[in-house]
Amino acid sequence: MHFKSKLPDVGTTIFTVMSRRAAEENALNIGQGFPDYPIDPRLAAALNEVIAEGRNQYAPMEGTIELREQICKKLAGCYQRQFDPHTDITVTCGGTESLYDAIQAAIGPGDEAIIFDPAYDSYEPAVRLAGARCIRIALAPPAFRFDWDEVRRALSDRTRLIIINSPQNPSCTVASQDDLDALAACIRDRPITVIADEVYEHVLFDGRRHHSVLTHPELRERSYAVFSFGKTLHATGWRVGYCVAPPELTRELRKVHQFNTFSIASPLQYAIARYLSNYPDAWQGLAAFFQAKRDLLSGLLRGSGLEPLPAAGTYFQLVDYAALSQEDDMSFSDRLIREAKVAVIPLSPFYAQPPRMTLVRLCIAKREETLRSAAERLTAFARNCQGARALPGR
Ligand code: GLN
Repeated sequence: MHFKSKLPDVGTTIFTVMSRRAAEENALNIGQGFPDYPIDPRLAAALNEVIAEGRNQYAPMEGTIELREQICKKLAGCYQRQFDPHTDITVTCGGTESLYDAIQAAIGPGDEAIIFDPAYDSYEPAVRLAGARCIRIALAPPAFRFDWDEVRRALSDRTRLIIINSPQNPSCTVASQDDLDALAACIRDRPITVIADEVYEHVLFDGRRHHSVLTHPELRERSYAVFSFGKTLHATGWRVGYCVAPPELTRELRKVHQFNTFSIASPLQYAIARYLSNYPDAWQGLAAFFQAKRDLLSGLLRGSGLEPLPAAGTYFQLVDYAALSQEDDMSFSDRLIREAKVAVIPLSPFYAQPPRMTLVRLCIAKREETLRSAAERLTAFARNCQGARALPGR
């Protein structure tokens, strides 16, 4: 065949695969990360208003100025730093487009990018499409901590990029101030850019604070920080994210963005800008909102054989099924869909070389009834597994 794949080993993203399987098997979908409850009706009303007002033509390539100004206000409130909407902010199609554009802008053929496993699945294909290569360093379960000595050993003359993600999907861990300092020390005096995937910036539990690269004087100068209104406004289907970076970095990112998506749906941008300007605190309660969901689901599962791991942030919860089965996570997840009628996300697709482990990821961004009924199905499934194992001769 004349056509040669650029990503021969890449299949369909696990989130789409599991959502498809959930629909086929009529299973409760707590896999792919999206809320099953409505957005704030005031946000929906703002969208209807701006469409009726005729905000229906191309938005400026970099995003509407109204939205970029609101973003700067929000950043000033969250991180006590001033940003310029003209030179520092670009609105993109979800966080994923920011990540892709930043990767294309930052690296090219022959370069190396360091990423941490379990890594979000879009990083490596985007690095490879840029002609570069990923060096993958594992965050070891159960604590999934960074090993900065290992990072230092992995640095080479070709290293041009390090991608961090905090709060981290799927490990549910968060980076500390010491982690940011260690990262800054690693890249000091080297031509390395940072991409900080901070889309879960507001979802940290038990009083933890988010340490953004934007608050770190050294890192801020070298970083693309990526954020998501999908996560912050419970509207993942709107696909509105943004990237914050110093002017030189933003300039290069926009060169990619303008020929990738050009600009983002304008009514969505006007609606979000209006909503944030009328209700600037709308996102304030997110940590408590998701913490209650985490506590509900993990409380219902504890002791069932699907043991919740500590979760410091994100809208996910890992569970360990070692007490029930030693199957690999792909087949265990498939059995959960067929037998428990619950779809979850296995962890091995987040690894270059999946270690032996028995973890799956559940999404907590669901209504209380959904979480209760998922937990009921999962605990019933777990009881069946344990019952089957207890039978003589097994
Ligand atoms: N971020 C979402 C998750 O981790 C998935 C987004 C997607 O499906 N591309 O579940």
